[in-house]
Amino acid sequence: MLSENLTWEFPSSAEEAAGLLLRPGALLHAGGTRILKTCPKSVKLLIDTGGLGLDYINFTDNAYYIGSGVTFSEIVKYPAKGKSLPLLQSSLSGAASTPLRNRITIGGSLKDFPLWSSLYAPLIALKARVEILTDKPAIHTVEDYVSSGIIKTKHLIKHLIIDEESGLISGVKKFSILKFQYPAFTIAIALCMKGRMVEDARLVITGVRNRFMRFTKAEEMLKGKTLNELTLEEVHRHISPSFMSDYKFSASYKEKAARIIFMDLFKEIKGGMR
Ligand SMILES: Cc1cc2nc3c(=O)[nH]c(=O)nc-3n(C[C@H](O)[C@H](O)[C@H](O)COP(=O)(O)OP(=O)(O)OC[C@H]3O[C@@H](n4cnc5c(N)ncnc54)[C@H](O)[C@@H]3O)c2cc1C
Repeated sequence: MLSENLTWEFPSSAEEAAGLLLRPGALLHAGGTRILKTCPKSVKLLIDTGGLGLDYINFTDNAYYIGSGVTFSEIVKYPAKGKSLPLLQSSLSGAASTPLRNRITIGGSLKDFPLWSSLYAPLIALKARVEILTDKPAIHTVEDYVSSGIIKTKHLIKHLIIDEESGLISGVKKFSILKFQYPAFTIAIALCMKGRMVEDARLVITGVRNRFMRFTKAEEMLKGKTLNELTLEEVHRHISPSFMSDYKFSASYKEKAARIIFMDLFKEIKGGMR
């Protein structure tokens, strides 16, 4: 149960909301899907983010700016240009259910980062950045935002920035037994090609012991090569995610499933190049 003495504020700018957030017991409320589930008792003040004007998707200077108030459904329906946004759209289209996707926001999902996140693997693979407001604005890569612990501090997320990369080939797959179940993990692959050669590679998994992992040895192995120069077995050797067991799956089961799904995805991407 949330506290009975809860108050609400309805600020009309991001700066006003960031100021209110400094009050003791204050929490931002976006889609509310996580807050309703966890009902944190310590919360005294809920700050509605609906009036902050952060529900935009703009494409400027070869980059997407996605406001933190944008819902998963709005992203999925957006008429994407280029190659970067479709990776995110593909992942979010399989998240939760239609009514939930109509509520779940980018800001709430970035701050929450659940194990079953459909957002983080594609964002890290796309080298996305996040602009946050505390006492002053700051931009971090999504990867740094999590790794450095900034995610745990009090701040308002303003928007995501995703650069459009030419030569990008990518794909994403989640693992769940039933379509509407929480994904046990999500894998995203983004390869930046120069002609037929891999110039940059990002291989990411979420749902693992440390929230996310990049398979850096496999990434290094891919760089500077054509996809035909490497056998799948060579890449496979460097895919070794570490999971926690849960009530549905043991850690070793998830590890085996992740290696198979990773290779399926890799084959699909390689096949698409022909
Ligand atoms: C049944 C179910 C299935 C789900 N399945 C999936 C799934 O498959 N994939 C997936 O990715 N997600 C899934 N979710 C969603 C996920 O678990 C979270 O509930 C969701 O990401 C929270 O987003 P929200 O907008 O509702 O945030 P809220 O509940 O409003 O807030 C969550 C947290 O974010 C903070 N916050 C909100 N906005 C901002 C902001 N602008 N800046 C800083 N902090 C902010 C809040 O203060 C709070 O701490 C599912 C949820 C449910 C209930």
